[in-house]
Amino acid sequence: MAIRLTKPFTDEDELREIAGVLASGHLTQGPKVAEFEAGVAKVVGCEHAIAVSSATAALHLAVSALDIGPGDEVVVADFTYPATGNVVALRGATPVLADIDLGGFGLDPAALEPLLRDRTRAVIVVHPFGVAAPLTDIARLCGGRGIPIIEDAACAIGATYLGRQVGSFGAMGCFSFHPRKGITTGEGGMVTTNDNGLADRIRLLRNHGAVKSGSSLAFVEAGYNYRMSDLLAAVGVAQLRKLDAILTARRAVARHYSAGLSDIRGLRCPLEPEGAVHTYQSYVILLDARADRDIFLACLRGQGIECTIGTYALHAQPFFSQSYGYVPGQLPQSWTAYNQTVTLPLFAGMTEAEITTVIGGVKEAARAALRA
Ligand SMILES: *Cc1c(COP(=O)(O)O)cnc(C)c1O
Repeated sequence: MAIRLTKPFTDEDELREIAGVLASGHLTQGPKVAEFEAGVAKVVGCEHAIAVSSATAALHLAVSALDIGPGDEVVVADFTYPATGNVVALRGATPVLADIDLGGFGLDPAALEPLLRDRTRAVIVVHPFGVAAPLTDIARLCGGRGIPIIEDAACAIGATYLGRQVGSFGAMGCFSFHPRKGITTGEGGMVTTNDNGLADRIRLLRNHGAVKSGSSLAFVEAGYNYRMSDLLAAVGVAQLRKLDAILTARRAVARHYSAGLSDIRGLRCPLEPEGAVHTYQSYVILLDARADRDIFLACLRGQGIECTIGTYALHAQPFFSQSYGYVPGQLPQSWTAYNQTVTLPLFAGMTEAEITTVIGGVKEAARAALRA
């Protein structure tokens, strides 16, 4: 049987919670969403947590709440899921792509600095694969210029930097509860913030731009329907109770992997930068330049081990290169990461035997990839 890339960690608790919502007859945003929001606010350590339908919706609301639009620039970490940059384009603003550091795969402060200009209205920092970007240096650069930071913490619930939860550093944090993330609601997202004004605006835009007016509603701006259903929030409430156990289990698998993989030629295990606690939403290895990644992936898959690339270099995607004139390879670190990273299977509940199989499979794949 194949070893899956990921498997959500659920049990009767989620079923019980869903059954409760079905029995209540209240299926759209309601009391379970409020309960889930309060739980996430507590974990992240923010005043407000606003549940939405996905991290993409969360990011879209974040740039919308800042009134980012045509003529504005938003600096976006280049090595990420395209949603991070798409939301800027959807506002009619220009995503300015910034290179990363190959150590933790996060935004490189040295690459960020020259991109901060008069038209820069925000910086979207990504916490790749569940580990924080270098927030102190980035916050110093942005804070001095009054530029708000949006944290794309889609992968990183529970990750900390200098002892503080990600999603609580910037003006807003955006989380995902897609099944590939640390905890899941099937689909779902959350915006976290300590800013009352931004929180009000996000709640307004999440729900059609509607405010209560007497016995009905008044629609004060063109909003979205980005609400989360109580059915999905019920899953989130149950998942949140497991968060610590899931993160502990994931870190244990990662430790096993790093012990077993560290002396294999041709690859590098994920790093945990100084001050950061990694949650291993993905365990991503970096292959040497001379290793053939296609052969590596094919060899692992051939052994029944699911695997995939790390993530995307936005500047090399057709939309971003055609719209904004980037040439593939222009951001060299991100380009290397895009071409030479591999995500290995990792989930809570993985057996020792599965871990051993993956380590053996990687040895084999590395040999094949270097021979090519
Ligand atoms: C998964 C992911 C997203 C998108 O999350 P959805 O909830 O699927 O919209 C955005 N940014 C990053 C970095 C991601 O990993």
